[in-house]
Amino acid sequence: MKVDAPVLYKAVTATFVYPRFVRGAMCPKCSTIKPPELVGELHRHGRHGKASAFVPRMVRVPLYPVAPGSIEDASAWFEERWRGGVFVPDELLPLVSVA
Ligand SMILES: [Zn+2]
Repeated sequence: MKVDAPVLYKAVTATFVYPRFVRGAMCPKCSTIKPPELVGELHRHGRHGKASAFVPRMVRVPLYPVAPGSIEDASAWFEERWRGGVFVPDELLPLVSVA
């Protein structure tokens, strides 16, 4: 991917290998992300929709801006080309967190 699709490679590494995480507020009903100041505030869903309170959430932010849809394009790229088993390359093992 690094050679054949460098734009997709940069998007994947910025998003999944070197992301940073910032505080945010997420609506548990529709997964909308807002600034953390809104934690506890209500998110309304239309005139008759049920409101939900924003909850704190750590939000993944890519290392640098990634074009919308590039992660979906990268996923399709992998689907078309991936052969064999799934593994983590040795050079990325220190970055893998065991949850
Ligand atoms: Zn919502």
